Amino acid sequence: MKNINTILIANRGEIASRVIRTCRKMGIKSIAVFSEADRSAPFVEQADAAVFIGESSPAASYLDQNKIINVAKKMGANAIHPGYGFLSENVGFAKRCAAEGLIFIGPNPNAIDAMGSKSKAKSLMKKHKVPVVPGYQGKDQSIARLTKEAIKMGFPVLLKATAGGGGKGMRIVHEAAGIEKAIEAAKRESLSAFGDDELIVEKYIASGRHIEFQIFGDQHGNAIHILERECSIQRRYQKVIEESPSPVMDEKLRTKMGKAAVDAAKALDYDNAGTVEFIYDDKSGDFYFLEVNTRLQVEHPVTEEVTGLDLVQMQIESAQGLPLSVTQADIKGTGYAIEARLYAEDASNDFLPVTGTIQRFEYPAVDGLRVETAIKSGSEISVFYDPMIAKIIVHDVTRSGAMRKMQYVLRNLICQGMTTNQDFLLHLMENDDFQAGNYNTHFIANKIDLNAIAKKSVEDHALAGIAATLHGWQQREKLRTLLRAIPSGWRNNFYAPQSEDYQMGEADLKVRYRSQNKQQFDFYVGDATYATSLIIADDQIIRAEIDGIQYGFNISQNGNDYFVHNENIGNIALTQKERFPVKEAEKIAGGYETPMPSQIIKVLVKEGQEVKSGEGLVILSSMKMENTIEAVEDGVVEAVYATEGSNVEAGFLLLKLETTA
Ligand code: ADP
Ligand code: ADP
Ligand code: MG
Repeated sequence: MKNINTILIANRGEIASRVIRTCRKMGIKSIAVFSEADRSAPFVEQADAAVFIGESSPAASYLDQNKIINVAKKMGANAIHPGYGFLSENVGFAKRCAAEGLIFIGPNPNAIDAMGSKSKAKSLMKKHKVPVVPGYQGKDQSIARLTKEAIKMGFPVLLKATAGGGGKGMRIVHEAAGIEKAIEAAKRESLSAFGDDELIVEKYIASGRHIEFQIFGDQHGNAIHILERECSIQRRYQKVIEESPSPVMDEKLRTKMGKAAVDAAKALDYDNAGTVEFIYDDKSGDFYFLEVNTRLQVEHPVTEEVTGLDLVQMQIESAQGLPLSVTQADIKGTGYAIEARLYAEDASNDFLPVTGTIQRFEYPAVDGLRVETAIKSGSEISVFYDPMIAKIIVHDVTRSGAMRKMQYVLRNLICQGMTTNQDFLLHLMENDDFQAGNYNTHFIANKIDLNAIAKKSVEDHALAGIAATLHGWQQREKLRTLLRAIPSGWRNNFYAPQSEDYQMGEADLKVRYRSQNKQQFDFYVGDATYATSLIIADDQIIRAEIDGIQYGFNISQNGNDYFVHNENIGNIALTQKERFPVKEAEKIAGGYETPMPSQIIKVLVKEGQEVKSGEGLVILSSMKMENTIEAVEDGVVEAVYATEGSNVEAGFLLLKLETTA
């Protein structure tokens, strides 16, 4: 047995943090490597030592084998954990580690190599009687041969790049017409994306569910499976939600699929953590091998939550040459776990990744909640890496209990500063079919109206507008208190209706309001009036009572951009339009009205009189306070309707001013 006492983590983000946690638990020193962009990332701080390895582009840092090996040696590491992605399935790197006397925490290089190509993998599995998707994975890669095989198999077929991964390099073909063109295009894409144009042709399973088994092996020939995870909820062939156990699993199927997974592991002399992915045909109940991922999987926490095992610790132990500490008979799942991946991406815009700064990241304390994240408030989501912000995992005794918790977390989680898929994830969780476990890999495409998620009600927009306006107002108030010399905005315009204009995606939102004092406001949005009391206002929270209901709004502001979140509304982003041009236009059109029921104390101007901006026009009294309505621009008094001593309603037109622009 080789003792591991110092591990270099050749990765970043949440998975680096995850590995560091287990290192600490085991008394192993952890060494992080980091790129320019990650200098102040949490994982860098968490590691026992951290070494800069280069520019932000992966090629210059996390994929630079020389740099990583050199740092490992210099820092006295005797093992390297590759995480997932980057060098984790790079057979050259695994071999190089061994040659340099460093333990690669993963399976042996032969296993990685055997599973590195989808065609080699399928051929090997077929040989070992693991059911594979019917298809062609041969040496003859001529267009004619591939076409012939596709037609023989019957449509639809799936063309896959043998070197592909991460959901990339796949193409469905529905009919014989155009198959040659599709093959040519798939080859071109594959060559440019993976440097290899080899394809396999597979029967496309129209109603498939992605069910995968966690496998584990040691260097003593033991191999087990650690139950399944279902990962059918995908977009672009990539997982967004994973759960265990699978809603379609029963003991009989588990035994059968589990055996196939262990057979796959044995075929590879598998000696660390891996995942055997299957596609399960909903219609026939048959299942087929897809691939083996020879690394720790993104969704491994789901398995950890139902089994109580620490898969990273098990990886380290296997890499040290220790025999597995558990047998197949020991593996028992308890309860139910589900993971949702929070991404910086726009579900309503084809799931395009977005970049920006996470201004605020907080989540509620819920029993059974585990959050794996790469970020903290202030972290940047950059163009260089995966836009995953966090993995949210909940565990409960029952599936419905876990789903309820997940919904609660997704409602109350605060992640502001950019568009995320938070509302989308909640929408998925609330779907009846999803809750019934009734779904396949087409669920998002077929059952979810992506445009509906971003669409909020008129009422929700109004509430978000009120929250943003109160926030802006409060920020100005604070500034005014700091700089006492500046005259009060609200006092000066005590009766003048204020107006803020926002842009929400394509839509405009006009919010008008009058403040009676620092707590009481009347808001006018669209045709509705909202009587509003401000309860709490700080830099991140607006708590307000609006028509008798109290709301807590989480607010982040970045220049003119406001991000408003409330557990019932979800996330709404508003951009404030430039105040002044809009303001002026409105004032000219407006005239001067009473903001609330008042007595007219004094009229200070006459028709035809020239006035300057800021000059008093009318003195009003209401709620025992006297206030002066002032001109907001230079002009000539066109008409006066106010008579001294009279009592008027709110909205009474006092006078009109013609601008002298
Ligand atoms: P998994 O297959 O573990 O569930 P995905 O399917 O989401 O993971 O990821 C697809 C591929 O992209 C995998 O090879 C994974 O290693 C890689 N990948 C995912 N996220 C990241 C990341 N943050 N950094 C680097 N590689 C990643
Ligand atoms: P990757 O290496 O990109 O993860 P996989 O072979 O694991 O590629 O496939 C990714 C996803 O594509 C699967 O989870 C499944 O949703 C879909 N898929 C793959 N093969 C088939 C198939 N033969 N029929 C239907 N869907 C498939
Ligand atoms: Mg896969």
